[in-house]
Amino acid sequence: MTLMNIPFLSLKDVTALHGAEINEAVSRVVNSGWYLQGEENDRFERNYAKFIGSEHCIGCANGLDALIWIFRAYIELGIMKPGDEVIVPANTYIATILAITENGLKPVLVEPRLNTLEIDDDLIEERINERTKAICIVHLYGRNAYTEKIGQLCTKYNLKLVEDNAQAHGCKHTDGRITGSIGDAAGHSFYPGKNLGALGDGGAVTTSDPELAAAVRALANYGSQKKYVFKYTGRNSRLDEIQAAVLDVKLKYLVEDNAHRKMVAQKYYVQINNPLIKLPDSVPDEQNVYHLFPVFCEKRDELQDYLEKNGVGTVIHYPVPPHKQECYREWNGMSLPVTEYISDHELSLPIGPSITFEEVSRVISLLNSFIF
Ligand SMILES: *Cc1c(COP(=O)(O)O)cnc(C)c1O
Repeated sequence: MTLMNIPFLSLKDVTALHGAEINEAVSRVVNSGWYLQGEENDRFERNYAKFIGSEHCIGCANGLDALIWIFRAYIELGIMKPGDEVIVPANTYIATILAITENGLKPVLVEPRLNTLEIDDDLIEERINERTKAICIVHLYGRNAYTEKIGQLCTKYNLKLVEDNAQAHGCKHTDGRITGSIGDAAGHSFYPGKNLGALGDGGAVTTSDPELAAAVRALANYGSQKKYVFKYTGRNSRLDEIQAAVLDVKLKYLVEDNAHRKMVAQKYYVQINNPLIKLPDSVPDEQNVYHLFPVFCEKRDELQDYLEKNGVGTVIHYPVPPHKQECYREWNGMSLPVTEYISDHELSLPIGPSITFEEVSRVISLLNSFIF
């Protein structure tokens, strides 16, 4: 058999899907002589806000900054103060947690459910106290994490709902709302590998709260609302015109690109039949944009080696959870068994808008013949 090399994700192939238009957009900006805070940002922000279903979109430098600015803006507006608590899933990418601690707020780590991989909404209420100011949900792996119960807890305890939508561009809740428009504010990442990815770093905040939007916009631009007048001690955290132009092209194809991911995921769900490999619950199509396709295996490392030897790239999301990281050594003794189980057993299979069905079939037949 000829060895097929199947990378985890080929960004080159992803870009090539819309290559001509992307190149055209990049040269337009290059030749325009205008590289920051111009009409490319305006257009993309308008289109992305409309796509998400929020009143405002503020482009910024990356997804981490987007989340940092949301919490910082709440502090500047007097709605939160350092020392306040934010409920957050324990099994997230470190950026979610960094955005909270960066602002002197305290993350309260809540376990996910193993069958959905999203925050367990039955464990939230017991963690709410008078210092709790927000719930930050993360639509991890591309799956909707919002539940009616989370919405009711926010109303009952007057908490802000912040969404980390870095992995879920285009995902919907059962009521049809798109993730990123469900909470009070959402942080989005356009890191190249995300469903809506730039050719470098990029991020955005969406919100329908005009005061929050104004504060975020100022913070990401040195804290300035008017040229040379500084309201906050902000930073330079802006989205390049080139990236905004690229994102505006890719936004047009996001639904189509997500549909391809869904077909790939469907094949994985239907055809993987090895009892040694477990899949998370499937959800109705619209509630998952399959940023990643996680599977679980008791011999995860052996499975990864076996796929690697057969030319298939995989990635672990994430090998060490935030509470076990050196930067958060004060939490290293905490026991979060579900989160730790995920870190020890998760493996993400190749998925993306450019993988072919032939490649997917090859991955499936390898998975189905895996033994230990
Ligand atoms: C990618 C990611 C981020 C951070 O985005 P960057 O653009 O890389 O800063 C935040 N949260 C989650 C869940 C992510 O996957």
